[in-house]
Amino acid sequence: MRNFRKMMISGLAAAAAVLMLSGTAFADGVIIAPGVTIPSHDTASMGPGPGGPGGGSAGTDTTANVSDGQQTEQQSGQPAEQTPSVPAETQTAAEAQGPSAGTEAQQSGEQAQAAAATDEASLIAQSLQDQYRIFPTADPNIVISRGRKIDVTKPLLALTYDDGPQTAAGNRIIDAFDKYGQRTTFFMVGDRVPSRAAEVQRMAADGHELANHTYSHTYLNKVGAETIRSQVQKCNDVIEQTTGIRPRIMRLPGGNRNDTVIANVAMPIILWNVDTRDWDHRNTAKIVDAIMGKVKSGDVVLMHELYDATAAATEIIVPQLVEQGFQLVTVSELAALKGVELAAHKIYYSF
Ligand SMILES: [Zn+2]
Repeated sequence: MRNFRKMMISGLAAAAAVLMLSGTAFADGVIIAPGVTIPSHDTASMGPGPGGPGGGSAGTDTTANVSDGQQTEQQSGQPAEQTPSVPAETQTAAEAQGPSAGTEAQQSGEQAQAAAATDEASLIAQSLQDQYRIFPTADPNIVISRGRKIDVTKPLLALTYDDGPQTAAGNRIIDAFDKYGQRTTFFMVGDRVPSRAAEVQRMAADGHELANHTYSHTYLNKVGAETIRSQVQKCNDVIEQTTGIRPRIMRLPGGNRNDTVIANVAMPIILWNVDTRDWDHRNTAKIVDAIMGKVKSGDVVLMHELYDATAAATEIIVPQLVEQGFQLVTVSELAALKGVELAAHKIYYSF
């Protein structure tokens, strides 16, 4: 094993190659192609959820929701202004860590193994700081992201929570994910963030994804271009001011959109393909039933952070999903690990 370290670095390169090639290897789930068929249950379920306190006009015009079926993907054709480079900058992972590769010949196997362990711990720590980057490891099936290891050969699922922060239910949800080393995505309403800063900072510190759900839960199809842009920007600004992390994905309140919305939302737009309708029935058993046995790798599940019933359901489903082999990941992780490079002005339902 005198060349263990060299082999490890070679392994890193192989892993990098896997990630770079994953655009073809895992791209089956891309859902942004024109003419995509949207699961029928979506069309009846683009529920807005309540706007929550400070939600402005939310909740007053629920009958005005645009169903998914009315609009196919709007491919603006414009270059992404803020195309996030979620896929790993993989080749730098080896160089960024520990001693340079120039000394590998002198290292004994034991030393190399110790270095590898140090590298892994270092990568795990670094991945909590650099949350949009996925770090390869010597094992091409294993990557490190947001403070933990992920096996890319096992099922990946994104549970998501809208309309928070809402500290009571939110902390229960975070607890449930943290207890099993899992991650989730919170699509948050910007004007709710300052008074719940500690909760939002905890989400970030624990490796969960902070995402944009507009500043005031505004139905963007009801307002003009300037308001659309300011609603998106102000939400990003307040989350960044609170945590130091700027969101890279957003979700439209109610899923409501039109051409003006698509043209003016300069972020990837994440909707969902599994709807628990928790905002409607607020029933723990129904939420559990909407998920267990019905989800598959690549799915994006819609829930809302506001309800005790949703927190209770989360406490039930997280351990069950983990037991079934699912790895619960953030939306940005799911996209990257499925080989999808998220682009602004585009809508995604699943990966
Ligand atoms: Zn909402």
